[in-house]
Amino acid sequence: MQKIYEYQEKLMEKEKLFTELEQLAKKNGLLELKNQYRGKKHLFLKIRQRIDAMYAEQKQMETSLKDETELARSMEEALYSGDIKDPKELGFIQDKLEQIQESIEKKQTEQKRIKNALHSEIAYYQYTGEEMKKLQQKFSENQNDLKNKHQAINDRIATINHALETIAKEITPEELNDFLEKRKHHQGRLYAKVIHGNTCGGCYQKMPTPLLNRLKSGKSAVCDHCDRILLYEKEETPAKEETHKQKRKTSTKKK
Ligand SMILES: [Zn+2]
Repeated sequence: MQKIYEYQEKLMEKEKLFTELEQLAKKNGLLELKNQYRGKKHLFLKIRQRIDAMYAEQKQMETSLKDETELARSMEEALYSGDIKDPKELGFIQDKLEQIQESIEKKQTEQKRIKNALHSEIAYYQYTGEEMKKLQQKFSENQNDLKNKHQAINDRIATINHALETIAKEITPEELNDFLEKRKHHQGRLYAKVIHGNTCGGCYQKMPTPLLNRLKSGKSAVCDHCDRILLYEKEETPAKEETHKQKRKTSTKKK
């Protein structure tokens, strides 16, 4: 019975580790980091598009400015060459020139605006790129951390498996199978130790005296509350009850 109990405790330890593995797989933050990264990348590409559009606009503006400046210069030349005598035509060219100069000024202001906007977009672009790098780094750090945790748990499971094999050698296969079969109907513990001299170690309820006496006389007993098979160890007995000498277990269970 003692060996089966040890087996049971090791088994429970192992099951707890499996639960830990499951929890690690469920909530390790990797998915969240991946989503964060995806969001940043989306933003990154959007900024890139805006920058490209701005560059195109800037280029267009430059060409257009160059054309207008050229046009203004040729108009000025014509105006001051003295070749045009018709005052009507002169007035017309003068008006046109003013319009173009106004347009040039507007475009120059716009050009400055684009330049400034481009400047801050590029800074934002670089910042987002850095953020992406950080997220990537964090992801691989977490991934490594997870790997190590997995490894540590798996190592512990391997140790437990080894211990289980060792214990199993000291139990008959029938006994072991019986235990495993019966255990299916009990969550975790099929066997519970009596603790504090009078308490079930499975459900922590105090046991009635007749039950306790039954155990003390070496007979098998089951907890009234949780149905677990109780294990009674002499050492757990308080000193007052040392009247009759405890017999070895009379049940069929082997050590
Ligand atoms: Zn109980």
